[in-house]
Amino acid sequence: MNLNDYQARAVSTDSFGDVAGQVSVAEMAFMTKVLGLVGESGEVAEKFKKILRNDGGIMNEDQRQELAKELGDVLWYIAVLSKYLNFDLEEIGERNLNKLMDRKDRGVITSKGDNR
Ligand SMILES: [Mg+2]
Repeated sequence: MNLNDYQARAVSTDSFGDVAGQVSVAEMAFMTKVLGLVGESGEVAEKFKKILRNDGGIMNEDQRQELAKELGDVLWYIAVLSKYLNFDLEEIGERNLNKLMDRKDRGVITSKGDNR
């Protein structure tokens, strides 16, 4: 399965239907995806926090599997939001890698700032 295949299947599970290109940022379908992405990212952070706080930073197999589920939830929101913005998920990935490879080539991969 490539990223665009995943995206198409993810969009097919959107409770609002396939509304890509038909919804504005302020609409419920769009905003619930933005909030969902933040929420699921928070769930990832929360699980890591508990591993640190409760288990001294030692992750067991159950926790690793739970993290995989939460990362999948994050991916779903990224895929659907990308579609709402009329981007294929492959393009989002390509753009990100191009940016990072350029930074790496210029020796600024660990520098600060969003646009370097
Ligand atoms: Mg979740």
